[in-house]
Amino acid sequence: MGFEPDRRVFLTRALGATAGLAAVAVATGVTEAHAAGTGAKGVNGATGQRNWRFCPKCYVMFYYGYPDNGRCAAGDAHGMAGYDFDVPHDVPENANAQANWRFCTRCYGMFFFGYPSGGWCPVGGSHSAAGYNFVLPHDVVETPNAQAYWRFCTNCYALFFWGYPEKGRCPAGGGHNAAGFNFVIPHY
Ligand SMILES: [Zn+2]
Ligand SMILES: [Zn+2]
Ligand SMILES: [Zn+2]
Repeated sequence: MGFEPDRRVFLTRALGATAGLAAVAVATGVTEAHAAGTGAKGVNGATGQRNWRFCPKCYVMFYYGYPDNGRCAAGDAHGMAGYDFDVPHDVPENANAQANWRFCTRCYGMFFFGYPSGGWCPVGGSHSAAGYNFVLPHDVVETPNAQAYWRFCTNCYALFFWGYPEKGRCPAGGGHNAAGFNFVIPHY
């Protein structure tokens, strides 16, 4: 596990809330298989992609691996805080892991691509998928290396952190609206 000198920890979150299980039908072929990445944990010992971060402005998870930081629903680019998430990809789904989560080339957010529409991108229009097919663990026990309370937003389709009383900024207006699984995302 890598040492992260700037790692900060969020401990504030709403307690006592549990996620309902929502059946989400997904059927998309996995087309990418890469050796890149450094993780060896998560789903089925999956390799993960690092540099996924929490944005303290809009609360979504976005990819921090490019020089710029995409587009935030709260204005300008995303901000970065907290854990360095290591997100499993290109492994089979199972009862506790959902596939079809993708990187948006326009806003850099993580969004669910398993519906006919692509949600609502902060840039305008729908999110645009590229890269890995991420497979997110859900409804498993939180550990020192995996953070719970990441949720799907029914309005913009992004993955956002639900653990604070306020729910960030949704490009569809207001805060994000959670539904479905309680995702537990591996991190360094
Ligand atoms: Zn943001
Ligand atoms: Zn987008
Ligand atoms: Zn939203």
